Amino acid sequence: MRTDAPGSPRGGPAGLYVHVPFCASKCPYCGFFSVAGTPPVEATRFVDALTREAALHRDRFGAFDTLYVGGGTPSVLPDDALARIAALGAGAAEATVEANPGDLDPGRLVRLRAAGFDRLSLGVQSLDDSDLRVLGRRHSAADAVRAFRDARAAGFANAGIDLIRGVPGQSSAAFIDVLDRAVALAPAHVSVYDLTVEEGTPFASRGVAPPCEDDAADLFLATSGRLVAAGYEHYEVSNFARGPTLRSRHNSRYWNRMPYLGVGPAAHSFDGARRWWNPRSVERWLAAVEAGRDPAEGGETLTPEQARLESLALGLRTLDGIDAALVGDPAALRRLHAGGLLEIVEGRVRPTVRGMLAADRLARDLA
Ligand code: SF4
Repeated sequence: MRTDAPGSPRGGPAGLYVHVPFCASKCPYCGFFSVAGTPPVEATRFVDALTREAALHRDRFGAFDTLYVGGGTPSVLPDDALARIAALGAGAAEATVEANPGDLDPGRLVRLRAAGFDRLSLGVQSLDDSDLRVLGRRHSAADAVRAFRDARAAGFANAGIDLIRGVPGQSSAAFIDVLDRAVALAPAHVSVYDLTVEEGTPFASRGVAPPCEDDAADLFLATSGRLVAAGYEHYEVSNFARGPTLRSRHNSRYWNRMPYLGVGPAAHSFDGARRWWNPRSVERWLAAVEAGRDPAEGGETLTPEQARLESLALGLRTLDGIDAALVGDPAALRRLHAGGLLEIVEGRVRPTVRGMLAADRLARDLA
């Protein structure tokens, strides 16, 4: 039974995020927490610990209505481990697993579908082999196309493709060509992330720079125009769905500040009021969970004013925008509206596509 007592989740059933912090090798741009090579813990023991951690929070969160298994690379785990993870979100209305195209074959995809996953997020990144080499990916463009088609054949009607824009050496025309080839596969969902060069990564030490702001802005607008013309809804700065029912329900929780439990090393959680996070260490996380302790290493509760600013910052990244009552500066609202960056529809302030491009500035100005 869900209650709204302090510290318990608010806003309906929660989502469950499972972080699988293992990758076959480390991509040179990646700042996510993941351990490359052979996982430092056996899969069975890892999933036992995930199960224990979820159980620690069972009374507080109850049943989950979305499950998202991300990483890292979840598909480095064997099928039986992934099936046990799927069972943690049994009954969820949406169960997503991220996968690397090179890890999949038709049989695996059938087993993942049978285990209960109904949404696949395929880390394609590019459909150009030279981009994939620059990004240090292990799969080829042909592997990605094959994996996507196999996923469809296995019953993943809701299969999405992730792409990276701004790969070093990639021209704008080359990216649009990749995008067109991705659209030709008719994925249910497309995510397009600008390459970011994270501190401490090989790309950063090599001095790799992302594209200049003007080029990035032109390509953002071209991406949106292309995908919208192909029938996609641009529902968040980096995300496109073939209609509202195919939006990522789980990720929409983050943008709407709805509760979710995150389990696994480095996972974050939010119960509607407080958020907390796990250690960026497999060993420290495992030691705490196996001793029956909550592994969280930090947490915070936002003041109402901090929560309002966060709602502005997150909501203005989305097509649905924010409740107009959250706006702190009505003069800025009029100015940004007149400048074509915002629309005001039925009491909601919604960014136009040019507004999405300037979402951080909108949030600052409207605060
Ligand atoms: S980008 Fe993805 S596959 Fe590459 S190291 Fe990071 S988490 Fe692993």
